[in-house]
Amino acid sequence: MLRLGLTGGIGSGKSTVADRLAEHGARVIDADRISREVVAVGTDGLAEISARFGPEVLDADGALDRAAMARLVFADESARSDLNGIVHPRVAARTAELMTEAGSDAIVVHDVPLLVENGYQADYHLVIVVDAPVEQRVRRLVDRGLPEEDARARIGAQASEAQRRDAADIWLDNGAELDRIRSSVDELWRERLVPFEANIRSRNPLPLNGPRIVEPDPEWPRRASRLLARISKAAGDSALRVDHIGSTSVPGLPANDVIDLQLTVRSLAEAEALVEPLAEAGMPLLPGADTDEAHHPQPDPEQWPDRTHVSADPGLRAKLYLRVAGAANWRLALLLPAWLRADDGARREYASIKRDLAARFGSDPDTRRYIEAKRPWFERALPRAERWASETGWQPPPW
Ligand code: ADP
Repeated sequence: MLRLGLTGGIGSGKSTVADRLAEHGARVIDADRISREVVAVGTDGLAEISARFGPEVLDADGALDRAAMARLVFADESARSDLNGIVHPRVAARTAELMTEAGSDAIVVHDVPLLVENGYQADYHLVIVVDAPVEQRVRRLVDRGLPEEDARARIGAQASEAQRRDAADIWLDNGAELDRIRSSVDELWRERLVPFEANIRSRNPLPLNGPRIVEPDPEWPRRASRLLARISKAAGDSALRVDHIGSTSVPGLPANDVIDLQLTVRSLAEAEALVEPLAEAGMPLLPGADTDEAHHPQPDPEQWPDRTHVSADPGLRAKLYLRVAGAANWRLALLLPAWLRADDGARREYASIKRDLAARFGSDPDTRRYIEAKRPWFERALPRAERWASETGWQPPPW
């Protein structure tokens, strides 16, 4: 199953995108609708509300008077938490039920207006944010019959564009005509969502063909932090810590366009237990040994035990190394980027070597030649990194 979170400010076109995804066969779960259903007339949810808050929150037909309820909880913290205590568990139960009904090969779209405001990003494989310029959104809402002042007030109360950008794995710009957003959704469905779901189901780690050395991308840290949140959620208590490592974690360094991450575990036995949860989260295990690591001074798996998971998302190249807390390879993966971040000269030197290798091997589908060509620099660099660590007192972060 592929779980997508869909959000966007009011009037952005979120429902338009949800409808198009549904036409392709996605199962859309509408959070707003569920939150109305669980307190509809005749539900035990509404019975509890009226027992707690009295008849003044019901209208003449015995339905929930939303305006009265809103006034009440707006002014009273404990009333708000009581209301949430009644509504949230019911919404969660109904949502889980619909997710289960969708089936294991479904692409589920959870339409959640306040996804970013509530920090639910890590619950999904991908978050889709629909956006449009504010003036256009106001115009659409006014066309729908909302007074302009209300439209502006609602837009102002929601998450900012920057917050949404941080949360968005996929940013859909709906500033143009309807046909444009529909065809963006069609392409997304075909090129990314359908293959991602199939890869998760078949536990297929995507081949990371060839080094693709590119100039530093300011999106790298944001992509990494979204993945880390999902991985830590999937790994639960087994995750002692999760870190963005490798060249994409060093600002200013050109890099192979793969986000490298490290998950710290107590033992490799614990890593074994994470095979399924990580695969479900979109990061299946890469079978066999990973030969992609230039900085292994001893490429002997006995000496450098780790396990590698690779993203199953065709839209994002990422690797996750599971390593044991305190092990030499674990420490080195944290030391190298720390040193490169701190030492301008070393970083410039490495950047120039990478640019040179990119020119030579950039189109070579076999990553090994690129890795081997990097090795001599690495072998000289390791003692320098260690010297820097002892001079500055660098220690790996606690776990
Ligand atoms: P949301 O669910 O984000 O509030 P909707 O999808 O309901 O937004 O869109 C708001 C209104 O704008 C709807 O009436 C919709 O038909 C219209 N709309 C959406 N996208 C476009 C577009 N690209 N061009 C013109 N109108 C649009």
